[in-house]
Amino acid sequence: MDGSFGQHVVLFPFMSKGHTIPLLHFARLLLLRHNTAVTVFTTPSNHPFVAASLHGTTASIVVLPFPTVDGIESTDQLPSMSLFYKFATTTATMQPHFEHALEYEITIPRITFMVTDSFLWWTLQSATKFNVPRFAYFGMSCYSVCLLKEAAISGMLGGTQPDDELVTLTRFPWIKLCKNDFEAEFRNLDPKSVAYEFNMKLMSAIGDSYGMLVNSFYELEHVFVDHINTEPSPKSWCVGPFCFAQQTPNIHLIPGEKPRWFEWLDEKLEEKGSVLYVAFGSQAEISDEQLNEIAKGLEESMVNFLWVIRKGEWDLPDGFEERVEKRGIVVREWVDQWEILMHESVEGFLSHCGWNSVLESICAGVPILAWPMMAEQHLNARMVDEEIKIGLRVETCDGSVRGFVKCEGLRKSVKELMEGEKGREGRKKVMELADIAKNAIKEGGSSCSTLNLLLQEICTLHKESPPM
Ligand code: UDP
Repeated sequence: MDGSFGQHVVLFPFMSKGHTIPLLHFARLLLLRHNTAVTVFTTPSNHPFVAASLHGTTASIVVLPFPTVDGIESTDQLPSMSLFYKFATTTATMQPHFEHALEYEITIPRITFMVTDSFLWWTLQSATKFNVPRFAYFGMSCYSVCLLKEAAISGMLGGTQPDDELVTLTRFPWIKLCKNDFEAEFRNLDPKSVAYEFNMKLMSAIGDSYGMLVNSFYELEHVFVDHINTEPSPKSWCVGPFCFAQQTPNIHLIPGEKPRWFEWLDEKLEEKGSVLYVAFGSQAEISDEQLNEIAKGLEESMVNFLWVIRKGEWDLPDGFEERVEKRGIVVREWVDQWEILMHESVEGFLSHCGWNSVLESICAGVPILAWPMMAEQHLNARMVDEEIKIGLRVETCDGSVRGFVKCEGLRKSVKELMEGEKGREGRKKVMELADIAKNAIKEGGSSCSTLNLLLQEICTLHKESPPM
């Protein structure tokens, strides 16, 4: 890297696919600007994924040693998410190596700012030591951040009401939430627990950071962006959606070079068939019993579907693939989700509502059948169904937000998304949002302007001229 760059941005994503992928896309977005250098930090076994994603760009990659939890360097490979806090806490062992690199290895051009994942709370200490502004990447929508805060402040999380009883939020009176919309560790705040200690470190580091980088766009959730930014620092900067920055889908690949599921999607398009894409992200834990019901529900729904299954040790029901032969395809590999969502035949997404999946679906103009499972996904599902109205929720057997989904409930919900009134309305709304999202990252769009402002502000801080 020579010294002619105006701006040098350091990115350090957390080692889970849902946190790494958006920051790699953000790297591409930055590199579209002249005079900008990007250095991405990662660990040895994540290097191939990062390098492949940044292929063809000028981004530099620095690999830090990471004494792993059982040899695992990415949360999607953890045998159970119960190991998450141990994994996340261990990342602090990278701090001396990170600081060595900041001091000796990547000094030219001078680092202008860094964006590091909020789970890497200790990077704030490194940033402060080297006088580099740190932006925390949180990976959530402003809607979810506001609701989490509001629920905590209002005391509803510690209330005595039943777990599924809806409570109106005082600050956002059109929104009703229940305790079950939140993960147990947010509800039972035991100050001695690892989760509590970790979350406090993380929140305190966010509070002392220069700003928050948000993968969202103003028009999607302006009430919540404005609300967050009325609070004292750090400011939230909505500069997404990042997914548009990734390489163009391989739609024009010649037959034989395309993955088999992509050729299958092409066939469906030729037949003028619409397809439901079924995927639950990179780390959802789904019981065998629940997978059996999904299989039955998809089979009985009679819609075309592409189902990505992550669980290796679960077998499809006997004869399933033969019975759904023409109208269903099951994939057990890593897929290019963006490419699938952008395929013209895909007209619905049965999703766990990880924030990246929700945004990608919005950007691709595909309505969502929301089936939240963990983290803040229940809030994202409320946003999809009740706030921005781009889909519906899957029907659980007891009507509760974490209830078991039987095949009848799934079949009914799938039909409604693909053929019913709610699906039609969701499709119309999501297509409008897709256009707005596309414009947001274009010159003059809200996210592009926000990124310009961010760069100008940082440059003023460093008394340098901003890259254009
Ligand atoms: N993803 C993908 N292929 C897969 C599984 C996941 O490309 O086979 C991507 C997906 O497009 C998204 C990310 O991995 O960008 C998953 O993030 P999300 O927030 O949706 O869910 P998480 O995996 O964090 O629960």
